Amino acid sequence: LERTFIAIKPDGVQRGLISDIIARFEKKGYKLVAIKLVHPTKDFAEKHYDDLKGRPFFNGLTDFLSSGPVVAMVWEGQGVIKYGRKFIGATAPLASEPGTIRGDFAISVGRNIIHGSDGPETAKDEIALWFKPEEIL
Ligand code: ATP
Ligand code: MG
Repeated sequence: LERTFIAIKPDGVQRGLISDIIARFEKKGYKLVAIKLVHPTKDFAEKHYDDLKGRPFFNGLTDFLSSGPVVAMVWEGQGVIKYGRKFIGATAPLASEPGTIRGDFAISVGRNIIHGSDGPETAKDEIALWFKPEEIL
């Protein structure tokens, strides 16, 4: 079955959005197969956003991801990678439709609440980076 990696970023945790975000995935019918609260190190954040190394915002982005606790999750179900991205909305919250997570809760591209894998290969890599196999049910 298809799986994706979803993380509620430090701003989402601080703003009390954990339950709302989890509820959206649950109510759609997706299955939570792994979850933990993690405070990533700067080095770990750089690994997670490895593909963006060299971008002008890379340092700020990885500082931000490592600034506090993150809810790391694996969600399972048909179409979950693509549908998860749809739920999340566009990278820039002001371009996200209302009804999406970023559309409903965020304004700034650098504080956009949530991360979701953007394809099957990234999902595989990100799940392996954040979770040990025995942490996934
Ligand atoms: P994420 O990977 O966090 O789910 P995304 O896939 O929508 O977001 P990416 O292109 O992977 O977007 O960028 C990763 C993160 O980098 C974005 O969520 C955003 O916080 C930040 N980012 C992307 N583009 C910019 C930009 N032009 N200026 C500032 N921050 C940016
Ligand atoms: Mg991305």
